[in-house]
Amino acid sequence: MPNPNLPAPGKYRAALRRALSLTETTKHLEWETVEGGRFDFVAGQFVSMTRVRDGDEHTRAYSLASAPRADAGFDLCLNRVPGGLFSNYLCDLAPGAIVDFSGPHGFFILRQPIERDLVFIATGTGIAPIRGMLEALFAPGAALDREAWLLFGVRYRETILYREEFERLAAREPRFHFVPTLSRAASDWTGERGHVQEQLRARFAGRRDFDAYVCGLKAMVDDVRKILKEGFGLDRRQIHYEKYD
Ligand SMILES: Cc1cc2nc3c(=O)[nH]c(=O)nc-3n(C[C@H](O)[C@H](O)[C@H](O)COP(=O)(O)OP(=O)(O)OC[C@H]3O[C@@H](n4cnc5c(N)ncnc54)[C@H](O)[C@@H]3O)c2cc1C
Repeated sequence: MPNPNLPAPGKYRAALRRALSLTETTKHLEWETVEGGRFDFVAGQFVSMTRVRDGDEHTRAYSLASAPRADAGFDLCLNRVPGGLFSNYLCDLAPGAIVDFSGPHGFFILRQPIERDLVFIATGTGIAPIRGMLEALFAPGAALDREAWLLFGVRYRETILYREEFERLAAREPRFHFVPTLSRAASDWTGERGHVQEQLRARFAGRRDFDAYVCGLKAMVDDVRKILKEGFGLDRRQIHYEKYD
């Protein structure tokens, strides 16, 4: 059933304006909507991108990695999946390339009003919708009176996506706490080690007074939901998630 608070999905065409390599296998892509009218969305939603190849139409979902901005452009953050049809196609595009998409889709959005602390939990490119939500939460003039934590799990220091951006945000906003955790840290890494699940237990066990937003591959999301529900006793309405497979 359509949610009256969310923009209705439509069909659009976007031009790639900028492509940045965040790691050897991850790209940040900035798009401008060039056909279909103004593309409105809420931070955290996703688009369905389309590619016609050998007469067959392929579509894949990608989370919007930015908050809505005045020019109605948007960012994506995506990983090359080995042998993957769509992720490699998008990662190989050069600025100027045109892609059709539909959207916005999905319900992984910040629930308003914000009445509890927020714990964002992401692994890998699961950071994409959460980056958009954080941009919206800490936009100029948006006064958050709760604490917000980002537990971000990746393997190596070099693969902490948007690291400088989150560090700058944490330095600027006393209510934002950035906790990158590495599952394969080098010996000189002085930050957190292990998986997001361990950080969650270490920092929040015994608390029920927060809302959680979880995004990444299915195994992590299922595991975190179980900890939050069965371990901590959170109500399911406090747990919001998006799974990537
Ligand atoms: C709601 C939603 C939002 C998504 N947002 C993003 C996003 O923001 N960024 C992003 O990078 N991806 C995102 N994805 C995943 C994305 O839609 C594709 O599944 C992914 O890009 C792989 O597509 P492909 O065509 O390259 O691989 P395919 O050709 O479809 O698959 C190749 C093989 O790789 C496996 N595979 C698929 N995905 C992965 C993976 N992530 N890791 C390891 N193996 C995999 C498949 O099972 C298959 O065996 C999202 C998925 C959903 C459902």
